[in-house]
Amino acid sequence: MKKHNFSAGPCILPPEVLRQASQAVLDFDGLELSLIEISHRSKNFVAVMEKAQELVRELLKVPEGYSILFLQGGASLEFVMVPYNLMKNENGRAAYLDTGTWASNAIKEAQRIGQVDIVGSSKDKNYNYIPKGFSIPGEADYFHCTSNNTIFGTQIKEFPETPGLMVCDMSSDIFSKPLDVSKFDLIYAGAQKNMGPAGATLVIVKDEILGKTGRNIPAYLDYTTHISKESMFNTPPVFSVYVSMLTLQWLKDNGGVEWITEVNKQKAEVMYNEIDRNSLFTGTAEKEDRSSMNACFLPVNGVKTEAFDAMWKEAGISGINGHRSVGGYRASMYNALPLESVKTLVDVMKEFERTNG
Ligand SMILES: *Cc1c(COP(=O)(O)O)cnc(C)c1O
Repeated sequence: MKKHNFSAGPCILPPEVLRQASQAVLDFDGLELSLIEISHRSKNFVAVMEKAQELVRELLKVPEGYSILFLQGGASLEFVMVPYNLMKNENGRAAYLDTGTWASNAIKEAQRIGQVDIVGSSKDKNYNYIPKGFSIPGEADYFHCTSNNTIFGTQIKEFPETPGLMVCDMSSDIFSKPLDVSKFDLIYAGAQKNMGPAGATLVIVKDEILGKTGRNIPAYLDYTTHISKESMFNTPPVFSVYVSMLTLQWLKDNGGVEWITEVNKQKAEVMYNEIDRNSLFTGTAEKEDRSSMNACFLPVNGVKTEAFDAMWKEAGISGINGHRSVGGYRASMYNALPLESVKTLVDVMKEFERTNG
């Protein structure tokens, strides 16, 4: 039996995807060669890259005028590429929303390149809510936000209107719910939270926003390089792109984003109902801003958790320790996590309350 994998990232993947991926490592497409030992320019791999892009376009209904890229360097390199490509070379200025560790890492990188206006921050309460009612200066070259704060378990439910470009780090909730891509100018996401193994970063960018900064951008950091080379400027992370393609195909075969939205809603409901009901635990995030992907909870004062830790391990649960900056527990409920796993965790929480409350 496989563990109930609540890992925050790299994340759980569907069992059938792991089976297909391991088969392809041994013999890909009947070539009698491994997926990871053939040329990325072979027609077999080019077909994989094209299929992955097509599935992104289809699942998210990406409108005309946007390019879909599979890059490297994780979301962390996007923290650098975004300001390089979108901040004006002279008097560059961008607006950022500070909602957690990843958002503030993005801010640090942007500050090396131009001026950053932090238009809202929830740092005062250890990032347990999403700031609202802030205004974005009209002069900003773009506005940057993080849709789901993986570490703190908060999620933006309603995106603000922006006077200019809208950029979003969607690493930990892309493909988890409906998304109107036309409201965004650039979206990026590391694959390893909700799409595949680490190594690839998905970027969806509106073509017309590029090439307008007046900056001489190093080729590798320039989105237009990767667009013109169809994500093959250099050797792409073939395994990560392939497994991401399989996961997106799995999503499509099961009913796409509409289907997973319902599944994710159910999982989050079951999880948060228990967090709110159980007298030994308390949720850390403000209710209205709770993430449907990462549920963070703490033992209430005085509750000793050794018994709980032994119980969930015994139940085959893995990966629910909270991030060190929050403590307690974090149940990450990405697309491939079955409802059954959430129910198993909830049963353990109930049993812990019954025997230790
Ligand atoms: C994990 C994560 C990152 C960092 O991703 P890397 O691919 O490791 O660079 C950035 N943003 C969010 C929201 C994340 O969850």
